[in-house]
Amino acid sequence: MAVKSDIEIAQEAKMLHIREVAEKLGISEDDLEYYGKYKAKLSEDYIKRVKTNKKGKLILVTAINPTPAGEGKTTTSVGLGDALSRLGYKTVIALREPSLGPCFGIKGGAAGGGYAQVVPMEDLNLHFTGDFHAITSANNLLAALLDNHIQQGNELGIDTRQIIWKRAEDMNDRALRNIVVGLGAKADGVPREDHFVITVASEIMAILCLASDMDDLKKRLSRIIVAYNYNGEPVTAGDLKAVGSMAALLKDAIKPNLVQTLEHTPVIVHGGPFANIAHGCNSVRATETALGISDITVTEAGFGADLGAEKFLDIKCRISGLKPDAVVLVATVRALKYNGGIPKAELGAENLDALKKGIVNLEKHIENIQQYGVPVVVTLNSFITDTDAETEFVKKFCEERGCKFALSEVWAKGGEGGEALAKEVLDTINTKPSNYAPIYADDLSLKEKIETIATRIYGADGVNFTPAASRQLSKIEDMGFKNLPVCMAKTQYSLSDDPSLLGRPSNYKITVREAYVSAGAGFVVALTGSIVTMPGLPKHPAAFDIDVDADGRITGLF
Ligand code: ADP
Ligand code: MG
Repeated sequence: MAVKSDIEIAQEAKMLHIREVAEKLGISEDDLEYYGKYKAKLSEDYIKRVKTNKKGKLILVTAINPTPAGEGKTTTSVGLGDALSRLGYKTVIALREPSLGPCFGIKGGAAGGGYAQVVPMEDLNLHFTGDFHAITSANNLLAALLDNHIQQGNELGIDTRQIIWKRAEDMNDRALRNIVVGLGAKADGVPREDHFVITVASEIMAILCLASDMDDLKKRLSRIIVAYNYNGEPVTAGDLKAVGSMAALLKDAIKPNLVQTLEHTPVIVHGGPFANIAHGCNSVRATETALGISDITVTEAGFGADLGAEKFLDIKCRISGLKPDAVVLVATVRALKYNGGIPKAELGAENLDALKKGIVNLEKHIENIQQYGVPVVVTLNSFITDTDAETEFVKKFCEERGCKFALSEVWAKGGEGGEALAKEVLDTINTKPSNYAPIYADDLSLKEKIETIATRIYGADGVNFTPAASRQLSKIEDMGFKNLPVCMAKTQYSLSDDPSLLGRPSNYKITVREAYVSAGAGFVVALTGSIVTMPGLPKHPAAFDIDVDADGRITGLF
């Protein structure tokens, strides 16, 4: 029997009207803003009303360092949520919205996979409720106001060589990384070098995900530093009088979106920063709302635990006061073998030697989560190519480290295939206390914070700061931002800043080459290695295979 593709499974799904999904959570129609029959935003009034509710348990799903295809965190989150629902728990899954960049690039969408998916899958992956377009528009409105300010006489004395604000687009488009704007006649603007970031790396995305409400959103927007003036002082979005109009564009985008899984478990999908070049977590408002209306909330942070989970624990939880009760660490035999040095094309064949070599990566991630005081459950996302010997090896490895283990078969079997994992998770939250604390204190210097992450999480011996990065970090501290957390921009493929160092690298230092403050989001970004904030497309982008027929049926999306 041929294996059905994700989109085929999704298109065969019998979805409930979103009203019925909302009913399961006691949300009435008055509190829904419909986007067709299967998507709705939660009203601001509802979010306010449930804010003080008693909170349920919070489970974070994260993973080992991935292969280029992704290792099934979303698939696992969805399957775990469905399994908990099957076991009778009121469960909400809180996820990020997909970016168009990966959909048309290599990785594909982000609705989960197999029988553990969020639907409507095509809508979720393409445009959804328009949040990212609103964020892109707000971002580019600020850019337009900035260039117009300079054109109209530059009253604020903006130094055009020190403009930080970048334009944004939700697409992998490397040709826009470095551009020149304002060419032409006098009326066509002031020429200067400019740059694009992908929308999911934009500060507006981070702000939307960290803001508690419209008031807080506006305060954060107003603090965005767009440039420095000729005296080297920051110029903000507030100075440019951009706040009200940007906030107006984001009026609906700040409302979380409700959809469902294939098995009708409610899913709140909201916000979507990448985890390698941004903070990698869905919105605080969505997670808090989910916690207020469920027994258990399952959420996911992007890429491996060195990026997504670190930022979830050190940025999102620190800023919002959220506390995770357990972490599910997803591993795959494939990715462990990849970390053992096997090329992508050979991951399907049994290879215990490569598995033994690569499993040190899982070991390090287990130790890392334990450093935050949160109990860990390891789950192996089962692929049909996995052999019994390989599965058994991973299970034994985890149990020898006092770590709970469960095989997850949610991709093939949906919620039923996640019950073993759900039981280990329930057992963990009922018996093991979570003593969550971030890995570094607010009052360390920015360099000390980066060094703490590099040495304790990445396993590096230390950090090389380029002269430019050192200068930038001390300026950021002088400006009064020393107490902010740090958002690392780093490759997802390695614990280090070098994508070719797989497994558990040692005897190395990471290099921080640039730093800037995202004063609105409330963190300092440190760029390592050759990471870029605008991805490019591969030679054969996924876009080549995507089509739509005369009836509007989409194919080739995955
Ligand atoms: P992540 O969230 O870690 O990036 P996803 O859950 O989005 O990963 O999964 C990435 C891709 O891998 C999806 O296309 C999904 O269908 C596929 N996938 C996930 N788990 C399995 C599995 N067990 N067997 C086969 N394919 C899988
Ligand atoms: Mg995912």
